[in-house]
Amino acid sequence: MQVQPHIQNGEVRTLCRMCNSRCGIRVQIENGVLTDIRPADDMLVNQGRICPRSKAALQVFYHPDRLTQPLKRMPNGGFEEIELPQALDEIAEKIEAVKDAHGPQALGAWKGEAVGFQQQEAYVRRFLHALGSPNYFSNDSACFKGRDLGHRLVTGFGMEIPNFSRSGLILLIGTNTPVCHPPFMGELADARAGGARLVVVDPRLNPIGCLADIYAQPIPGTDGAFAWGLINQLIRRNAYDQDIVSRYAIGFDRVADYAKAFTPEHVEAQSGILASVVMETAELLIENMPDVSVFCGAGAEHNQGGVNAVRAFVMLSCLCGAVDLPGGLFWPESPKLADLSLDQVPLNNECEPVGAQQFPVLHAIGRECHTMLAMDHILGLGDYPLRGLIMTAANPAVTNPNTRKVGRALEALDIFVVSDLFLTATAKHAHYVLPAATYLERTELHVFTKFQQLALTRRAAQVAGVMDEYTLWRELAWRLGFGETYFAWPDETAVNRFLLAGSGISLEDLEAHPEGIEYQPIRPRKFLERPFPTPSGKLEFTSSYLKSLGLDELPVYRPPQYQQACAAEYPFILTTGGRKTLLYHSCHANIPGFREIHKEAEIEIHPDDAAPLGVRTGDYVRVSSKIGAMAIRARIVHHSELRPGVVEVYHGWEDRPINVLTPDAVNDPISGFPLLKGVPVKIEKI
Ligand code: SF4
Repeated sequence: MQVQPHIQNGEVRTLCRMCNSRCGIRVQIENGVLTDIRPADDMLVNQGRICPRSKAALQVFYHPDRLTQPLKRMPNGGFEEIELPQALDEIAEKIEAVKDAHGPQALGAWKGEAVGFQQQEAYVRRFLHALGSPNYFSNDSACFKGRDLGHRLVTGFGMEIPNFSRSGLILLIGTNTPVCHPPFMGELADARAGGARLVVVDPRLNPIGCLADIYAQPIPGTDGAFAWGLINQLIRRNAYDQDIVSRYAIGFDRVADYAKAFTPEHVEAQSGILASVVMETAELLIENMPDVSVFCGAGAEHNQGGVNAVRAFVMLSCLCGAVDLPGGLFWPESPKLADLSLDQVPLNNECEPVGAQQFPVLHAIGRECHTMLAMDHILGLGDYPLRGLIMTAANPAVTNPNTRKVGRALEALDIFVVSDLFLTATAKHAHYVLPAATYLERTELHVFTKFQQLALTRRAAQVAGVMDEYTLWRELAWRLGFGETYFAWPDETAVNRFLLAGSGISLEDLEAHPEGIEYQPIRPRKFLERPFPTPSGKLEFTSSYLKSLGLDELPVYRPPQYQQACAAEYPFILTTGGRKTLLYHSCHANIPGFREIHKEAEIEIHPDDAAPLGVRTGDYVRVSSKIGAMAIRARIVHHSELRPGVVEVYHGWEDRPINVLTPDAVNDPISGFPLLKGVPVKIEKI
């Protein structure tokens, strides 16, 4: 691997991208070798702290298995190295062939998370727009957008992680802050030191639950019942923000009427959360409103009623008056950056984006095509064929539900291109695999909406033969004949200048301020001067938009239906998707030191369930669902960690992808999100 360092000796200030928190870091370079990563002390996001994953960026950068040469799949199924210009020429030829035969909508592009985030998304959207295809895919259609929709449907603005630091009560639902959002543990610790109370609701007792004043362990998929139970208490006791409700919200009467049924006893019967816990949590909300931070993690969205549950928790924040406050539902303002994505420019293609018919809200509000339905389109089960995919650092062969179907679909494509750091399980299905650049080889803007700050990532080095994301799309665009119109900038630095042109902040400003620049001071309570960005201009406790689509006008709660239907044959409830400290989805399991700690996939089982099965820690069990089965090592947990009847498997293991068990056809009706937190399974000792 030929490395060209940015400097021979010294340090480069940039932002870590080993997860999407983007902590400020200082990359140490000695004699041209990247030797260490240290925290930057002056960044608001991480305030001088980094997590153990950050230093592993150097192991990824120098990893012996890292791709530095394009690979082409041969007729015998093996890969051969080819030169980059040849790979790009052949890919462009094949894209043209699919476009000529089936139209541009037969091509899609899929942005993963392993190498990029905000700016990478805009490149992909711009490329597709120029190509004439509406089919933009990303992992967001199976993670994050469900919660974001839950927020947008009520408030009109998206989900932000609250600034916990000044909160009096932090209520976390289905999230594990130390592992999922490490930098915000500082805020949480500050709040706790100042006397804030912490309530954690999660079917799995995670580290954050161990720190809580109240830890509640619901039956998976019943979060909505708990939210309605709290709403019931606030309304019954007349302890809610009446000004917000009467002047800025619609649908309160319907909410008050529906909430009556959710007495603490009813919530206990539905969710397993004790009635006393419902009442105590409500008491804490009442004592601390409006300084309450209610935050739903991915655990809340991967259920059949996920969006409605999130809508109900967002309404709860509204009733507490925690609206457009940094510690509550925060309505961020955006910097004035130029439009790179062209997403708002109408596309000259009448074909419906994949999934827009079945899950219109995901596309209309979330601006995402549905990745699970992409597999149907590829397999000829959609309205029109999807024949080509370009994918940047995503790994759906591991992370999407119904692994076997994903594999069949990816194999069926006419042209499948993957740009990634490694030959992943997904890349093995590709016709061409292109070597991707790590974040240490790129420069891009990053917007911290939570702090209303703009910052710049910087190149620490370049690796010969490896393209950054911008160069990938630019090279393809020029070969397809629309480079001059859409990708004329020679490199990412020129793109950054274009983006900043009207912002009042120059690239030189950002270079001079590696800690980031505030593009606008945070202004709370903006709704006093302007309407909420919803169809009605108000907080929408009821949504006529959803009603017009035949969906729930009110975020009603329904008990987990699929679980009940399958209970006789599959008596256990599997939850997947929880994270391990050192791993990030399907990334980093190939880092040797990490693998010594997280050795292999395990299914976690309650001791009361393990005993009748005769299973002990270390035994292998066969776990089966309606769509598949796999063998996996068992780990018997402490009785407090899970409810009896609930089992848990971390996702992301390439060698044992748990998604062979998760169905792609059981979805949230609003987001189309798959059921990952309540899959009925049976377990047998092998
Ligand atoms: S939390 Fe860790 S991995 Fe994520 S950006 Fe911060 S230092 Fe990097």
